[in-house]
Amino acid sequence: RTEENILEINNIEVIYNHVILVLKGVSLSVPKGGITAILGGNGAGKTTTLKAVSNLLRSERGEVTKGSIVYQGARIQDQPPADLVRRGVIQVMEGRHCFEHLTVEENLMTGAYTRTDGRAAVQRDLEMVYSYFPRLKERRKSQAGYTSGGEQQMTAIGRALMSRPDMILLDEPSMGLAPQLVEQIFEIVKSVNENEGVTFLLAEQNTNVALRYAHYGYILESGRIVMDGPADELRENPDVKEFYLGMS
Ligand code: ATP
Repeated sequence: RTEENILEINNIEVIYNHVILVLKGVSLSVPKGGITAILGGNGAGKTTTLKAVSNLLRSERGEVTKGSIVYQGARIQDQPPADLVRRGVIQVMEGRHCFEHLTVEENLMTGAYTRTDGRAAVQRDLEMVYSYFPRLKERRKSQAGYTSGGEQQMTAIGRALMSRPDMILLDEPSMGLAPQLVEQIFEIVKSVNENEGVTFLLAEQNTNVALRYAHYGYILESGRIVMDGPADELRENPDVKEFYLGMS
């Protein structure tokens, strides 16, 4: 693996509504081509960190007030989310946001809206997405709102892939899914990472599964990174075992 970082977050502070300080100086590096996990409990600031990168904070009256975010060598603060998508950064939101009234395939196609490389290329990528998610091919004509939670999560990830991203910010992919399905989703993330070279930065409360698939992890508590390290080291760390892996 290369040591080059696709993303560097340097000491950022995020404030909501001008007063609520949520990230209190967060720094992290995301190596190109890797899977990096941000771990921590409810309200630790995982989603806020991802939204700071994708610039989705503004609609929630949130603001990066300190520090810098550097993507492929350039500062990306204040870039509209659609511009970031064109530059290869896309976020899959928590709660698998799909367009409920569109079919699965129409949802996937909306992911290609920023592309200018023609229909043939988009069609090829649709087949690429179906090769990772055969279930979505079976369900392609179904209205997304009527598909299962797992299928909607797959649709949300597939839709992100249709933008030909370099990096996917994946928020809480395990949320609300049965353990077997969680495993299936993470297996697909792993093969997309390995075969397509897509970098992942994911936020997860499910430390156990995230540390089995990620290469490196950061643990966030009340807006601060309290620990970080290679995933296999974190899994063996006594504090991580006690507080995050639910083992005694
Ligand atoms: P979760 O798993 O619940 O999403 P998280 O680690 O992703 O947790 P965040 O969603 O980033 O945490 O929230 C961090 C803190 O920021 C929480 O205390 C939350 O209440 C607060 N917060 C989030 N969004 C807003 C907002 N729009 N306005 C004010 N406070 C917010």
